Amino acid sequence: MNEHDSERIAGLLQADGLVATADAAEAEVVVLNTCAIRENADNRLYGNLGHLRPLKVANPRMRIVVAGCLAQKDQGRIQERAPWVDVVVGTHALPELLDLLRRAELEGPQMDVRETTEVFPSALPARRSDPHHAWVSIAVGCDNRCTFCIVPLVRGPQLSRSIEDVVAEVRDLAAAGVVEVSLLGQNVNTFGRDLTVPDSSRTPRFAELLRAVDSVEGIARVRFTSPHPHDFTPDVIEAMAACRSVCEHIHFPLQSGSDRVLGLMRRSYRSKRYLSWLELIRGAIPGIAVTTDIIVGFPGETEEDFRGTLGVVERARFDQAYTFQYSARPGTEAATHPDQLPKEIVQERFERLVELQERISLERNMELVGSTVELLIEGPGRKGGVQGRTRTNKVAHLPTPYPAGEFVRARVESAHPHHLGARALAPAGRVPVPT
Ligand code: SAM
Ligand code: SF4
Repeated sequence: MNEHDSERIAGLLQADGLVATADAAEAEVVVLNTCAIRENADNRLYGNLGHLRPLKVANPRMRIVVAGCLAQKDQGRIQERAPWVDVVVGTHALPELLDLLRRAELEGPQMDVRETTEVFPSALPARRSDPHHAWVSIAVGCDNRCTFCIVPLVRGPQLSRSIEDVVAEVRDLAAAGVVEVSLLGQNVNTFGRDLTVPDSSRTPRFAELLRAVDSVEGIARVRFTSPHPHDFTPDVIEAMAACRSVCEHIHFPLQSGSDRVLGLMRRSYRSKRYLSWLELIRGAIPGIAVTTDIIVGFPGETEEDFRGTLGVVERARFDQAYTFQYSARPGTEAATHPDQLPKEIVQERFERLVELQERISLERNMELVGSTVELLIEGPGRKGGVQGRTRTNKVAHLPTPYPAGEFVRARVESAHPHHLGARALAPAGRVPVPT
């Protein structure tokens, strides 16, 4: 979501005549687009603002902007702690950015942390780092209240776009050469719950949206993130299986494998149901890759609870897991829980979890050695050659050069926990973009 917002911020500034520079010292505008999901983001903001201060003294034309979730959370405190910040722009106020910059020039420091979204960030111009891939926001905000999570406080309640709006954006993207879109929402499968279909009392459904986006000519790959396991309904599985462009990958956040902790987190599923959904999904979509999010050290988590998480991770056999140490967020219920765990215990559990998942990730990737995959080339690889991505969202390195945006058929030759090694199939192995 933040990357998507950053592309829109850069797009707005570029449309206003600014050009990007790699050197902050010569910049006229510096934007720090922030995340508040874990505490280290807070610390980094104030550290970065400290580094910018002498640059601004040397270059008084510089305007410093703080955007994003921390701007929404800290509001006036940012300019109290760092009075050299010119603009604080919250998550709902991005469309006002240029106006705020102009007013800052004339009137001094500005802040807009309004509480509701009127214009979707997707309606603003974008400066994309990858011309073949685009983020498409389908809903902002979240109506859940997971006790650890700050998102509802900084992004507000769920607000969905209409299916027509999303499809129109995807059509424009396809016309501009984009072949892969990632649909974005905090809880994509409750998409539409806050809308009604015109001339009816029905709410649009996420499965319908998937089918509508799938029908856009030129889009070869559709991804989405994240679905909440609780709302993952059979019609979504059917749509995923039926839609040619919907990729064989699902990000399915587990958070914890302990039913007691899931209750404390206010996650409305339990481990048994979670695993049975996975079985259903894997049965309907062969070869699908599954990734997840897991929090270690939620307040009150016991060794037994943590072993429950390890047990579910063993059984679920995720392709990849994003593992987080619990971070107390102001304003959330869990932050006031009396039983916050000591850092050493959380660190020790975290390392055990990472070790287990690395082993499983490697085993999952080894199962692919010898198979043929379709890669979308993303650009130069870190190991020489090029880097591509499978439909299952795995990074693969190829020794031979291919242009970014090209589809290549390749054989997997080696496996590592976080990437594959592959070789293009002779002769050229290029596959046309499916239409
Ligand atoms: N909407 C998604 C869901 O329901 O699973 C999660 C979106 S959240 C932006 C991304 C991930 O950050 C979460 O899945 C969770 O694992 C992690 N996260 C959120 N709050 C956290 C906290 N207070 N401490 C540690 N990790 C946290
Ligand atoms: Fe946060 Fe996701 Fe829970 Fe919403 S569903 S409160 S975004 S973790």
